[in-house]
Amino acid sequence: MQGKIVKGIAGFYYVHVVESGVYECKAKGVFRKEKMKPLVGDNVELEVLDEDQKKGNITEILTRKNELIRPAVANIDQALVVFAAAKPDPHFNLLDRFLVMMECKEIPVVLCFNKEDAADEEKIKALREIYAGTGYPLIFSSAREEKNIEQIKELLKGKTTAIAGPSGVGKSSIINLIQPEANMETGSISRKIERGKHTTRHSELFPVGSDAYIMDTPGFSSLYVNEFEKEELKYYFPEFAKYEGTCKFHGCDHVHEPGCTVKEAVETGEIHRIRYENYIEMYEELKNKRRY
Ligand code: GDP
Ligand code: ZN
Repeated sequence: MQGKIVKGIAGFYYVHVVESGVYECKAKGVFRKEKMKPLVGDNVELEVLDEDQKKGNITEILTRKNELIRPAVANIDQALVVFAAAKPDPHFNLLDRFLVMMECKEIPVVLCFNKEDAADEEKIKALREIYAGTGYPLIFSSAREEKNIEQIKELLKGKTTAIAGPSGVGKSSIINLIQPEANMETGSISRKIERGKHTTRHSELFPVGSDAYIMDTPGFSSLYVNEFEKEELKYYFPEFAKYEGTCKFHGCDHVHEPGCTVKEAVETGEIHRIRYENYIEMYEELKNKRRY
């Protein structure tokens, strides 16, 4: 029988099988020898030990499509990156870090600006302009007014989606509308304190219907990009791609080099200046990072 690990606590793995529910499982010794630790999100083969008590053994981990370290999770198909359109205004530098991280992991992004009800038209227009060049699908939602939640549900179908973003933007409110059983506390002080303390909160997937899973990803709160070299950063800005190879210098990093077509595109407004400034800031950070 096959299922998906939706939660792991103290050596037990909770495996969701679409037709029959969740089984509490142990991983057999084989994995320990291979030093392969089952992760939330893993698709596994399990043997049922007791159907009534819903207990079983994981006997095999199926090939992983990808794997994140923090939060520790496997087989994420896409990320729904949520920021508020207003209240609070989006922190573009943080947002672009989320996007870079997802690009680095090759996880497709859907960008969602929630609290659309709190933003005026001009603000929405500005947000559209900044991210138009990236090609990421954009959703403007309002959990409060239940606006465009169907659109979010639609894009979850058949996929495992990590819902990422800073706290206070309405992620829990959206998750509760999509999956009432997840029962997320919204605006909760205790949850925020818990997150702030960096206690190891367990990753958990929530099934949505019979073919989708969502995951709240509190681990992505402060982000330093440091997992790659500065020369790679340009590949994580999708709107730079069409200029690749057109700069005067081969291997141009689009920073101080003369004859840089990316910088020209910033001047003409084809690439949004906010995106470019965040690129430069991350580039400098990578340049100055400590080497171990
Ligand atoms: P999370 O920390 O990202 O999970 O955010 P929550 O879902 O806990 O929401 C944070 C606060 O924003 C709560 O007070 C919500 O009531 C409020 N909120 C959530 N969604 C919306 C929305 O679409 N519009 C407005 N105006 N407020 C919202
Ligand atoms: Zn260049």
